[in-house]
Amino acid sequence: MSRIFSGIQPSGELHIGNYLGAVQNWVRLQEGRDSTFFCVVDLHALTGNYEVADLRRRRHEMAVSLLAAGLDPERCTLFFQSAVPQHAELAWIFNTVTPLGELERQTQYKDKASRQESVITGLLTYPVLQAADILLYHAVRVPVGEDQVQHLELSREIARRWNARFASDMPYFPEPQPLLTPVRRLMGLDGQAKMSKSLGNTIGLLESREQIWDKLRPAMTDPARQRKTDPGTPEICNIYSMHRAFSAESTVETVAVNCRTAGWGCIECKKVLADSMEGVLLPIRRRAMEIGAQPSYVTDVLEEGATRARTTAQETMRQVYERMGLTD
Ligand code: ATP
Ligand code: MG
Repeated sequence: MSRIFSGIQPSGELHIGNYLGAVQNWVRLQEGRDSTFFCVVDLHALTGNYEVADLRRRRHEMAVSLLAAGLDPERCTLFFQSAVPQHAELAWIFNTVTPLGELERQTQYKDKASRQESVITGLLTYPVLQAADILLYHAVRVPVGEDQVQHLELSREIARRWNARFASDMPYFPEPQPLLTPVRRLMGLDGQAKMSKSLGNTIGLLESREQIWDKLRPAMTDPARQRKTDPGTPEICNIYSMHRAFSAESTVETVAVNCRTAGWGCIECKKVLADSMEGVLLPIRRRAMEIGAQPSYVTDVLEEGATRARTTAQETMRQVYERMGLTD
């Protein structure tokens, strides 16, 4: 049996990029033989601008959304990162073996830093905390979207460096590998950048049919399709990648043919997508309503998860401190 770990920030609502790139995989993986740890990484969310009251609400909403999306507390361990202090503790330890240059060349850091006037240190050391999240549980597989592949490479580097220094006889930390889905990187509605909470180009997993349609209608498609009679290339269209995730296989084929032959205009194609999305998202919205109506259930589930996570995390820190000369 091996360990699986992944996390998501409560930096905004769960969006379909998060769902298709990562969370759908979490739901699938919890059914397998491996033990699964999933975490709302609220300490990571502090690296973006936020209002205190907003964060409190969004942590809770993220937990509700994950349960609505299908995480089952009987099958996985779901918890808030800040409820397990060992995450921050191990991050400090890893700070002492991580080369600064490795952090400075992370694409995600460069992207996010370029959008801020004054860059905080936490944005730079974000991947160190992420390495701690994963390695605290000795996780070997990490279901994430493509944007996290570089951070995982760094997690492996950190594991190697720590092992080389403190566990040279027998590696203590494993080298975690990413697990990607077919939709490894969903673009935002503008078609310019990846769908991302911090860019505001998202479709929320719990948005109503009407809200989704208001966003889909003006969304970017293949730029070659200026007029309805211009044929397009489905493979380069973001709407087509959503069809592949939400529509039945036969519908996906029909979409591709009608795009290539200009049989449909983009609006018709989007209407079919809206129907397919409703089929997948309506049951999730319904579950979210039910779960959201029982706030104490959510708190209990997350507390129970944290208790389980702490047991593993404490043991890891005990071993780490012993190997580093921090015990008598
Ligand atoms: P932020 O903009 O605050 O970084 P985010 O939308 O990138 O938010 P995260 O919490 O950073 O969301 O990521 C949660 C998970 O969702 C990660 O595994 C990440 O790789 C995945 N993910 C995020 N955006 C996408 C996307 N557009 N397509 C596929 N997967 C994604
Ligand atoms: Mg992100």
